[in-house]
Order: sequence, then structure tokens, then C-alpha cells
Amino acid sequence: MLTPDAALKRAAAHGIHRLRIPTPFAVGRVNCYLIEDEPLTLVDTGPNSGKALDELQRQLGEHGHSIDDLELVILTHQHIDHLGLVEIIVEHSGAEVAAIDIAVRRLANFTEDAELDDEFSAQLMLRNGIPENVVIALQGVSRSFRAWGSRARVTRPLRDGEVLRLRDRGLEVLSRPGHSPSDTVFWDAQRRILIAADHLLPTISSNPLISRPLDGSAERTQALVAYIESLRRTRELPAEIVLPGHGDPITDHAALIDERLVKTERRKRKILDLVRERPRTGHEIAQELWGNVAVTQAFLTLSEVIGHLDLLTGEDAVREIDDGKVVRYEAA
Ligand SMILES: [Zn+2]
Repeated sequence: MLTPDAALKRAAAHGIHRLRIPTPFAVGRVNCYLIEDEPLTLVDTGPNSGKALDELQRQLGEHGHSIDDLELVILTHQHIDHLGLVEIIVEHSGAEVAAIDIAVRRLANFTEDAELDDEFSAQLMLRNGIPENVVIALQGVSRSFRAWGSRARVTRPLRDGEVLRLRDRGLEVLSRPGHSPSDTVFWDAQRRILIAADHLLPTISSNPLISRPLDGSAERTQALVAYIESLRRTRELPAEIVLPGHGDPITDHAALIDERLVKTERRKRKILDLVRERPRTGHEIAQELWGNVAVTQAFLTLSEVIGHLDLLTGEDAVREIDDGKVVRYEAA
């Protein structure tokens, strides 16, 4: 099996170069990938900041290119650390912007949708027992991060399953909802390279964040249920190299996916045990599992808990009790 370093070298030999762009977020740097082909392509952009822009320009320069030369920007999903610079890049280069068709409306309406997202998250947190002062504080944090995002005008909508043709390669476009509803991976079957962004990460599990559906409907997504289905499909790909959105290349994706699935099973049983003791809110369960992190990272941990509760509800092991104000879960 390849080492991560050898994987980067092999990808580079195929014209795919990792650019590591700084972000202000806890996750650290984000990986963008330069594909030296026709059109000259960049997969993801990094967040909207002067520092990220400088770094992008410098790292493109190391490969003999500049932002102005870019001809196509591919966006892997709707999160701002991956797409914040897209408008600036387009202004400089006139590049086309490609993304999965179901995300087009959402990407175009960034500001309005971010506002709706915050409202949606606040309601979800309150319904699941997170105290109001915490919810208000987290909304403030979310608002302050918005400046790192941007709207994106997609000029090249992609269909799930279509092959995006560059001169020297074809990238199969595969929808992989879970981490976000717009997560898309790009599969080069000939070279057995998968550009996976945040769908699969080497050292941390991708958070299946609960979101508003892309079609604007009111019902929340079952992020973890969708994510597991997506992971199973990715496991079937005979990939040799998986290029993630953060960290080093993955060279044994099937084993890593199996690990993630085992961890999900374990956490699911733990949550079932907690609910068997007595009915609990999602937030109470998160506090049992993560202590104070359940407050500072309330939405993220709540998403994890609700995801596992969705799985348990689907197995008829757990049911919701709604007192009109908060939702509690009890063993069925
Ligand atoms: Zn993401």
C-alpha cells in the first residue's frame, strides 16, 4: 500500500497537486487541488480571506500558475472553508464554476440561506434541550464566521453520475450526501484516484451535520443515515488514492470506512443504553458523551446524537416524546 507521501507524489505525476490553504477554523488548513489539465482546474478554493488568497496565489506560483490562469473551479460542497474565494477567483480569471446541480440555488443565495440556516439550527437546538443563552451565543459565532464565505454562481451544473471531461481525464461526479447535503466526490476510474473532500477524512470522522434540505423543504435531513449509505457506496470504489479536504491522502479507504462504521455502531449502542436509563433530550445525551464540549460545540455534538437517534428510530429501538416544548427520546 502507498504511504501518504507516495500517494501525493503519484497524484502529482498525474497533474494533481495539493494546495494547503489556511482557515480560521478549528479544522486547520483546507486542501484544494490544482489539476493541470485543460481546462486548468482548481478543486475548492479555501475561505474568503486575504491570507488564504495570498497563500493560494503563492502555491499556484510554485507550479508555474497564477489565479488569473484558472479556467475551471470545481466546488465539492457548500461549506465556507471550501468555497469562500470563489467569487474573487472568478473576477480575476473568468473561470467557469462547476458544482452539483442540487446545490446551485443554495450556492447562489449564500447570505439569505446562511440566515435561514442559523434560524433552522437555533430551532433545532432549542427543541433538543439546548439552553437559550447557549443558542444565542452560538448564533453570534456563526454570524461572525459568515465573512469567510461567499456566494457562488455556478456556470457548469453537474449531474450525479455524469463524467466531467477534461482533456486528459474524466472525473465521474458522484453525489455523497451526509457531511453536507451537497457533498460530491470526483472519481477518476482510470487512475483510481478519488477526490473526496470532506466526505472521508483521514484522522477525524466527518461530522454528519444536520442541515436544511437543499430543495428548501422544511423537514431536516437525516444526515447520518444518508452519510452511512454514502460511505457504503464509496467503499465499493476500487480507489488507490483518496484525496481528502483536510489532511493527508488515504490509501486504504475501505479499512477506514469500516472503522468509521464500527465506531457508529458502538456510539449507537452507548446512546441506546443512556436512553434506556431514562428518557433524555438530545442535549442531555451529548453532555453525557462529551461533557462541556457539548456546550462549546453544541450544534456539532447535537448533530452526532440526533444522527444516531435517527438510526435507532429507524430500527424501532427508540421513539420520540414531544411535550410541545422539547423532544425527549425513550427506549421503545
Ligand atoms: Zn465541510
